[in-house]
Amino acid sequence: MVKGFVDVHAHIPAKEYLVDAGGVYHQAAAKLFGSSLGSISAPDMIKEYDESGVEKIIVLGWDAEVATGLPKVRNELVADFIKSYPDRMIGFASVDPNKGKLAVEELEHSVKDLGLRGLKLHPIAQAFYPNDSRFYPLYEKCVELDIPVIFHTGTTGWGKGLPGAAGAKLDYANPIYLDFVAADFPKLTVVMAHPSFPWVDTQLAIAEHKSNAYIDLSGYSPKYFDPTFITHMTKLAPEKFMFGTDYPFLTPSRWLRGFESLNLNDEVRNKILRDNAVRVFKL
Ligand SMILES: [Zn+2]
Repeated sequence: MVKGFVDVHAHIPAKEYLVDAGGVYHQAAAKLFGSSLGSISAPDMIKEYDESGVEKIIVLGWDAEVATGLPKVRNELVADFIKSYPDRMIGFASVDPNKGKLAVEELEHSVKDLGLRGLKLHPIAQAFYPNDSRFYPLYEKCVELDIPVIFHTGTTGWGKGLPGAAGAKLDYANPIYLDFVAADFPKLTVVMAHPSFPWVDTQLAIAEHKSNAYIDLSGYSPKYFDPTFITHMTKLAPEKFMFGTDYPFLTPSRWLRGFESLNLNDEVRNKILRDNAVRVFKL
């Protein structure tokens, strides 16, 4: 039984992700969050999470090679990073949907051979429209493997503040495209990462309309959540929201401090910090 909190959105804090795969885009994100791009070892990461009462952490991979020309994080590296903490860390693969059949094969390898348990996609960095039927074989594979998929939604720190955001286009991350995916794949668990600014209302509508759609709360301190968002999160559909940080850009202590300032009742608090993730991700 899971007793502590569950962070459903942490990035692998390795040089391969932060620096090599991130290029100028991550330098922009780090500036935005006031974080450094120094790598963190798994033991140091666990120590930091222990101090915040977080028991389980979903650690995400990365592959945006086709659109960015920057090297991917090998899914083997994710598997290797988490391997000393099988009860604490859960690895999610990433594959670049633009690689077509190779992406589907890589996903199958990551789950069956490496033991990763979900898929992470970033439509802006990977420059793809999630509802394009060219990518449907990837979702079919997720259903076959019985794994969830987390999609980045809304604006992003990726390239933020650079001229033309170094080519990154926001429209790919409009959550409305995930409405098609959730509708066409009713057996697929679709998680919309982050409050999807500037399409938060769209995101709330999808999460409440489709039983297989959820929201992870990473990327913003809860002290910046607006009142409408908080009403949906606490009163209208509290079973749809899950705690996530966006580590290492946002730390668990900082996120949780913002969350506690909302003064939610224990029932809602436990759902968001633990129970929803345990149910949705079958932990
Ligand atoms: Zn993220």
